[in-house]
Amino acid sequence: ERTVVLITGCSSGIGLGLAVRLASDASRRFKVYATMRNLAQKERLLECVRGCHASTLEILQLDVTDPLSLAAAAQRVQERRVDVLVCNAGVGLMGPLEICSYQAMKTVFDVNVFGTIGTIQTFLPGMKRRKAGKIIISSSVGALQGVPFNAVYCASKFAVEGLCESLAVVLQQFNVHVTLIECGPLNTSFLANLQSTDAEGSALQVLDSQTRALYSQYLQHCQSLFRDAAQDTEEVLQVFLEAIHSPCPPLRCFPTQFFMPLTRLKLASPDGSEYIRAMHKFVFAATEAPSNQADTSESNPAVREQGTGLE
Ligand code: NAD
Repeated sequence: ERTVVLITGCSSGIGLGLAVRLASDASRRFKVYATMRNLAQKERLLECVRGCHASTLEILQLDVTDPLSLAAAAQRVQERRVDVLVCNAGVGLMGPLEICSYQAMKTVFDVNVFGTIGTIQTFLPGMKRRKAGKIIISSSVGALQGVPFNAVYCASKFAVEGLCESLAVVLQQFNVHVTLIECGPLNTSFLANLQSTDAEGSALQVLDSQTRALYSQYLQHCQSLFRDAAQDTEEVLQVFLEAIHSPCPPLRCFPTQFFMPLTRLKLASPDGSEYIRAMHKFVFAATEAPSNQADTSESNPAVREQGTGLE
């Protein structure tokens, strides 16, 4: 019997890649329901599978923020069961908190938090009844540790961690496995798809100059981080595939070890001070503030001795 997989957010990135990998499995072990909010964007996915496995892939409309759309998609699953549910749909939001509009923050929580909860609620009863199932979440390093200027995004991803860790305790009794894939920076359209902080795009001007300078340092850091440390989607997909194939996948999987030293600091120093110090150094020490230009990272003993805090 084929494994029925339903994936949210398949018009691009991880969702698209995973749908393609599973639908083109040489032994045709999977039936993939690749879902997306807007079916007008299905061409890329269709191109990638090139119609060679028509029986292994079905594309469905699914907006995770719309309960009616969720219910309708569930109705269209011919097998009447989902063995593996991949909650992948998500949006980012970057910027100083003071300029994040209510609308932008609400979208992030609607998609990342309530969308994930609604998707799980839709398919959980069936999994519990059958005493079998896997729920796999596209989570983030930013779900475990705060990242400057990503406060609202991290808040939404932290929320999903709490959700899943709580669920996992109960669901082990039902043989349902919850797995968070803690992705680091990835070469997808995620950055291009960020929610913008405010409707007019002019809010940065109202910020104090210190915050503006820090934010521009952060953006520089972000650019070099994506250049140096971003993983290819294929590498990360491998971790999703392992979780799908494993009879008993763990609660958390880490496609990259890059952030592990920072992640560990949170436990090593529970009062939070060491993490905050290390993250501050990681983001702001390498790129100097304009007022400190003489003190470059090479001449900065803190950076020379302790590096980025990540090694
Ligand atoms: P992406 O922007 O290509 O994919 C996100 C997908 O979610 C898009 O296809 C988008 O259309 C979809 N989506 C947005 N709102 C939706 C809605 N209401 N209903 C259904 N679908 C919706 O970026 P990605 O990198 O493939 O992101 C996938 C997941 O991975 C996200 O949850 C993201 O938070 C997480 N992640 C990404 C990165 C990264 O650096 N790219 C890092 C860590 C975690």
